[in-house]
Amino acid sequence: KRLPTADRLLKRGMHVNQNCAFCAVLTESCDHMFNDCVYVRFLLLNIGGLDTTDVGTCDVRDLWARATEILVDPLRKQGLILLAATWWVIWKDRNNYVFRGKPPFITGSLERVKLLISDWTTML
Ligand SMILES: [Zn+2]
Repeated sequence: KRLPTADRLLKRGMHVNQNCAFCAVLTESCDHMFNDCVYVRFLLLNIGGLDTTDVGTCDVRDLWARATEILVDPLRKQGLILLAATWWVIWKDRNNYVFRGKPPFITGSLERVKLLISDWTTML
């Protein structure tokens, strides 16, 4: 929630593009970019991550809390890895767009998320 997303930078009076780097329609915020945006939902659904369609809130902290509350340890670990890997790739792709002008590419993002999940699952 403390990431320097467009909504927070605008509140501080900075002149930045307010549009989400992924959908280019809605204002970039932490909750939008990591939970609500069609881009992140596509990634989560395609890696078998948490089903975010029934989440009654758009708060990423609640989404993370739900993953930590899974009682069976292998599933909890896997859920947290899926979320962390997805969010890491989203943040990196967002920064590549904002700072380097490199537009996000969904199949590339999906492959990087899958690779991170594989690496982190082996390491952790
Ligand atoms: Zn978006």
